Amino acid sequence: SEEGKASEMVRHTLKRFEDLRRKLLRDAESRSDNSGIVVKRPDFKAASILKASALYLNQEKRVGHVPGIEVGDQFYFRIELCIVGLHRPLQAGIDAIHAKDSEYGIPVAASIVASGGYEDDLDTGETLIYTGQGGNNYKGDRRQQKHQRLEKGNLALANSCRKGLPVRLIRGCNDTGSSPTGKIYSYDGLYKVARFWLDMGLSGYGVYKFQLHRLPGQPPLGSALVQFMGKLKTTPSGREAMILKDISNGAEKLPLCVVNTVDRSPEAPADFRYIASIVYPSTILRPSAPKGCQCKDGCFDPFVCRCIRKNSGELPYTHDGALVELKNVVYECGEQCQCPPSCHTRVSQHGQKHRLEIFKTDRKGWGVRSWDSIPSGSFLCEYMGELISSEDAENLVGDDEYLFDLDCIKGNEARGVKLSLFNEDAGRTCEEASLAINARKLGNVGRFINHSCSPNLFVQCVLYDHHDLRIPHIMLFAMENIRPLKELTYDYAYVVGTVIDADGKVKSKACHCGAKRCRGRLY
Ligand code: SAM
Repeated sequence: SEEGKASEMVRHTLKRFEDLRRKLLRDAESRSDNSGIVVKRPDFKAASILKASALYLNQEKRVGHVPGIEVGDQFYFRIELCIVGLHRPLQAGIDAIHAKDSEYGIPVAASIVASGGYEDDLDTGETLIYTGQGGNNYKGDRRQQKHQRLEKGNLALANSCRKGLPVRLIRGCNDTGSSPTGKIYSYDGLYKVARFWLDMGLSGYGVYKFQLHRLPGQPPLGSALVQFMGKLKTTPSGREAMILKDISNGAEKLPLCVVNTVDRSPEAPADFRYIASIVYPSTILRPSAPKGCQCKDGCFDPFVCRCIRKNSGELPYTHDGALVELKNVVYECGEQCQCPPSCHTRVSQHGQKHRLEIFKTDRKGWGVRSWDSIPSGSFLCEYMGELISSEDAENLVGDDEYLFDLDCIKGNEARGVKLSLFNEDAGRTCEEASLAINARKLGNVGRFINHSCSPNLFVQCVLYDHHDLRIPHIMLFAMENIRPLKELTYDYAYVVGTVIDADGKVKSKACHCGAKRCRGRLY
């Protein structure tokens, strides 16, 4: 469908923006480690590269819905709103369409960003009193210092009111959690301008007020969800329909609750034991620790740090812990290294940071989602279980629902990812891989993550406590910005027709991921 294609374009473009931004940030950070140069706005730089290649979307000025954008979509950088055409000005709160570009012959408003930046704003979610623009001391405390006039954005909003035209609303909320900017912009859908009037502002100057009402029949408010989930305490008591407080029994730093809003069953998954590290059977020797680096002051120089050299000479993560790009294998420093535990290469080994929950899905059994917003590139969790040989894995016909094949390169190829950059010795995994992880009886949160043909997580193989390429840690990272309570999924990458039952017959299983481009079968 047209909307499906538009939505893919939006995701694809935002992913390009994020990929570029993180690379620019990483490069700037590694330069600043060496020379003290300050990192300057990689988001602006990434956006200007996209603009120069004419990759901005939806730049024609429009009232109403923007193709490919859903109510609830979240952004961390204001410039992302410009890139996807949701709100074009970078600073102004009102995106006005000039008379010459407007099909109504007069200026009208396309969208507004409500960031709570005005002293007079009043906001209940479904209705909002929005203060017009102008008259503020933008360079200082942003307070009113002149009367506002009915011109520019204010005039556009007034005209939208007179014509009964909808206006897109984006709310900017402060986020003290994972947002790289400290802000989250949520697209809250279409509002109508019910009325406007000139009022006396708190500073004693005239300000225009616009009363906005949310149009009915739209999905729930994304911004309200961010605020609501943010306020829930770390302890999950109070979570609706919770049937178990912590399925990890304290094995995770954060409790992992189980909720069921689908049926009345109080049964939580109980036919497995929760583990906090990979379990080695007696038949597979635990590989020895690798040679560590000597970087007592932290790792930044590829000529000094052997671990950075193993990552093609570049830090695999930005300083805020986002994976810069997918590699065949990422090497993190480890206990054998001289660098401190806070070293920028050590990310996934520190475990999950987001408040996750296990929830019952309609058609796929249990699944996993997060209370927190998850920025693109963030580490989510490891896929843990019992290590088994692939011969043993083959004998598990009929009980293989929790198996993970440990061949990184084959796995990435099956997911359609061809990696041009090879790590120093990652090529060897191809011939030698003969192991798998079975999370059927022993596992962690990773075993509950379902498959999607249009996933929001990806798999990155990581080594840190040993360098045995047959046994990489299977780490899941966010592929895009993920809003709270959105189901977390990755691509299982089964090759259809290769899963066999006990009689040697090809098995097939219908996929219920619900993606617009679902392949129809899991295997
Ligand atoms: N849903 C599982 C549970 O309740 O424990 C957790 C995931 S488990 C690793 C894999 C199994 O989940 C699959 O074999 C299948 O039964 C189910 N599953 C995962 N993704 C699915 C999808 N997109 N469609 C249908 N079933 C799915």
